[in-house]
Amino acid sequence: MKIIIVGCGASGIVASIFSKSTDNEVIVLEKNSKPMKKLLLTGNGKCNYFNDDFSFEHYYSDDIDLLSKVITDSNMSKILSFFEGIGVVPRIKNGYYYPYSNQAYSVYNCLLKEATLRGVDILYDTTVLNIVRKNNSFIVSTNNGDYVCDKVVISTGGKSYSKTGSSGDGYLFGRSFGHRVSVVYPGLVQLVSSDNFFKDLSGVRCDARVSLYSDSFIKSEVGEVQFTDYGLSGICIFNLSNYVGKLLDCNKKVSVRINFFDGFNIDDVSSMNFFLDSFNDKVCSRSITELLEGFLNYKTVNLILKLCGIDSNSSWDCLSLKLRNKLCNFLVSFNVNIVGTKGFDNAQVSVGGISLSDIDINSFESKIVPGLFFTGEVMDVTGDCGGYNLGFAFLSGMLVGLSLGGNND
Ligand SMILES: Cc1cc2nc3c(=O)[nH]c(=O)nc-3n(C[C@H](O)[C@H](O)[C@H](O)COP(=O)(O)OP(=O)(O)OC[C@H]3O[C@@H](n4cnc5c(N)ncnc54)[C@H](O)[C@@H]3O)c2cc1C
Repeated sequence: MKIIIVGCGASGIVASIFSKSTDNEVIVLEKNSKPMKKLLLTGNGKCNYFNDDFSFEHYYSDDIDLLSKVITDSNMSKILSFFEGIGVVPRIKNGYYYPYSNQAYSVYNCLLKEATLRGVDILYDTTVLNIVRKNNSFIVSTNNGDYVCDKVVISTGGKSYSKTGSSGDGYLFGRSFGHRVSVVYPGLVQLVSSDNFFKDLSGVRCDARVSLYSDSFIKSEVGEVQFTDYGLSGICIFNLSNYVGKLLDCNKKVSVRINFFDGFNIDDVSSMNFFLDSFNDKVCSRSITELLEGFLNYKTVNLILKLCGIDSNSSWDCLSLKLRNKLCNFLVSFNVNIVGTKGFDNAQVSVGGISLSDIDINSFESKIVPGLFFTGEVMDVTGDCGGYNLGFAFLSGMLVGLSLGGNND
């Protein structure tokens, strides 16, 4: 059997390794002059390739029930033992898997070496332009001529960070075979605000709870928030961002509320009021600015006092109950209006894609066109930060390879 895999990214290379066998000839067609360009950028060059908490609750898809059937402990053990078997030694920090070397190059080298050892043929500078089915075969047209094969695997990635090669071609191929493709939005990306105070906060980082609201509460995350001149960044913000593109597209109002005092388990105005009152009793003769600077960056303190209309030299004791409550509300529920994301060029992933409902979830084979398979980000599957996207890319590559009759001895 001759198998063509379109794209030599994270999922494509794993699919090639798992599908290669004595009976299967495997050719990977890659438009770049090198494989896995995106993988080398992952985890700031350290490649966070998996997570201990491998649960479907960390994924987004219109068909999350289908996805939950393959996000299983047994599949997790298979993929992790595969990585150990090819020489990737894990370093696990708070459940996040990295190669022990802390270098994405280790994962890259081990995967490439394994594909070469198994006899996978990778053709570079080869862009797939079109795929058609003729009788029981596929004709894959490229800038270097046509290839005929029995099975095709679409591993083109989505359309995030297109400079790495993933420019959305997979959606066109899927659509040309009658697959439904949901609207694709940037995910794991910075959020842009319409509020005019961000110039004052640019550069500030703080640990906080951030909660996404549209008509009602959607999701909350705890972590380091980074204030920039356009809005918000940081891993906790990225994890909220997967909802934002679609909400804004539906003309919904979107906001992020920041609780600066989550670390003290304070989440409402009255507890905040009580906390500051008690703290004020412990310290003597401090202005409200000095009081708050024990907890927050001075830029944040200045801004919040300005927004509340409180004189920075006044003391907590002198504030009216109304002003105290106003201040406390800013401290536990600082509202940021969100009007956009930083787009696909900055997004780590694409949210949406080829619908899982047209795909057999155990093999990732098309239900519409037998012999056509999908792996990775091109499908409507998006994970949180923390190794979930590479995790899914590898998992789907493995399941496709196994269902194509490859072995993994
Ligand atoms: C900066 C950054 C950091 C990230 N960090 C992490 C992280 O730490 N952990 C994590 O889990 N995820 C991370 N991700 C996400 C993760 O890298 C992707 O989800 C994953 O690489 C998707 O794998 P894939 O195989 O589906 O697609 P890709 O890895 O994008 O590979 C697709 C390949 O297909 C090729 N291709 C596309 N179209 C064609 C065509 N027409 N013909 C031939 N070849 C084609 C492309 O050139 C590319 O090589 C990060 C992403 C970015 C951008």
